[in-house]
Amino acid sequence: MILGMGSKPRVCVVGAGFAGLNAAQQLKSSKYDVTVIDPALYIEWLPNLHEIISGRKTGEDLKLSRQRIIERMGHRFCQQKVVDVGGSSLQLDCGEMLAFDACVIATGVGSAYPTVTGVGEFAHTVNTVAGCQQIANKMRRATLGHRTLKVSVVGGGTEGVEVLGEALRAYRHRPQLEFQMVDASDSVLPQCAGNLDKAVRSLVSNFNVDFRMGSGVASVEKEGLYLHNGQALESDLTIWAGAGSTTSLLGFPGSSSQEQQPWGQVAQTFQSQHFESVFVVGDAGDISSVMNKQTYHAIDMGRFVAANVERLLSGRALKRFDPASKPQVVSFGDLDTFMVFNGFSVSSSMLGAAKEMFYTLGLLQLSPPTNAKDFVKTLDVFQRSMRRVYLPTLNPLSLVGKLSRAKLFT
Ligand SMILES: Cc1cc2nc3c(=O)[nH]c(=O)nc-3n(C[C@H](O)[C@H](O)[C@H](O)COP(=O)(O)OP(=O)(O)OC[C@H]3O[C@@H](n4cnc5c(N)ncnc54)[C@H](O)[C@@H]3O)c2cc1C
Repeated sequence: MILGMGSKPRVCVVGAGFAGLNAAQQLKSSKYDVTVIDPALYIEWLPNLHEIISGRKTGEDLKLSRQRIIERMGHRFCQQKVVDVGGSSLQLDCGEMLAFDACVIATGVGSAYPTVTGVGEFAHTVNTVAGCQQIANKMRRATLGHRTLKVSVVGGGTEGVEVLGEALRAYRHRPQLEFQMVDASDSVLPQCAGNLDKAVRSLVSNFNVDFRMGSGVASVEKEGLYLHNGQALESDLTIWAGAGSTTSLLGFPGSSSQEQQPWGQVAQTFQSQHFESVFVVGDAGDISSVMNKQTYHAIDMGRFVAANVERLLSGRALKRFDPASKPQVVSFGDLDTFMVFNGFSVSSSMLGAAKEMFYTLGLLQLSPPTNAKDFVKTLDVFQRSMRRVYLPTLNPLSLVGKLSRAKLFT
């Protein structure tokens, strides 16, 4: 059966994360028949998920109803997984086909790690509320006994650093927990300017943290990790904050779901190499000028691709995306926060409070209150954010001595 036979041009948006939702928001329901497809009922606010580990955030703080957001835009939400995409229709998990005139694929990085054995079975990932809650529970339980819990954070990039920072915020003074960071690179935050490796290591020099750098993880077992250099590391709790991979959907014709797929290769207009009516954006897209996979790029790409969809459907020439160069903020629990520019980085604890405010506002903007009950819930979110994050960072009485001074790294 082919669905979607309205008179307006039909647009399918596959994946309702930052890129997909922003694309959908730009496409007005008065002009287009838009269907947004995602298997998950709730959008989980990825940039703050790691804060569940320290108990700063609960899962409920970070979940928003997709249906509500999408219906408010005047579009249709379809809670399904897309399993195949062609030039004019796509296939849903349930077997139904959906016809389109244009399709935006914004499926993110996914959570499959095909090249490292044992990750799915023995490692915990931090890209879902449930995953972070499991990690938080294991760490909390460890503090009740006398046994040492060896925690490994695999990945010394921004995600790994943010995860380690949150774990240290809550547990750095607990003798039952020992931490190690593992990465194939020789340094922590290798892609950030200003040698932040040294800064991160010196911040944790008094705590129980080891750095096992220079060799990647070959496999994850129940008891620990094997590295490519043959070394075995003991690990009771392995947190995978390394690279993910795109879904096989993006391999397009002839692809096998068993193979590791490249990122969805796209032109600077976001048009896929396979079909001119299909666009790939956000973390799922492989666009050379966008190196780091960050929320603000996904939002910009989502907005931009909607304009190109409109151009395609009205026969106009497509435009090329020129990514804005914005600094990246990397928080390291309550120890410090780095703002990374092209060529240098700065650090200041105050940036952590600014980041928190920015993301709390972003979350509320995506689903603004519509009635009194909603409004009270919104105030609650702000209040919790104030109590747990802004005030502990800014309150001069409790923390003035702890606030590290702003620093420049070149
Ligand atoms: C733990 C974590 C922390 C992060 N912290 C930060 C941060 O501090 N700052 C920052 O800027 N960025 C951060 N990021 C990165 C940021 O979240 C991503 O860059 C952003 O979410 C990408 O948006 P997206 O829309 O491309 O993909 P996503 O937000 O991942 O959305 C993809 C959506 O596609 C859906 N989907 C997948 N496959 C299918 C399918 N086959 N059919 C239908 N739907 C499908 C998924 O369910 C999901 O809802 C973080 C990411 C993670 C995982």
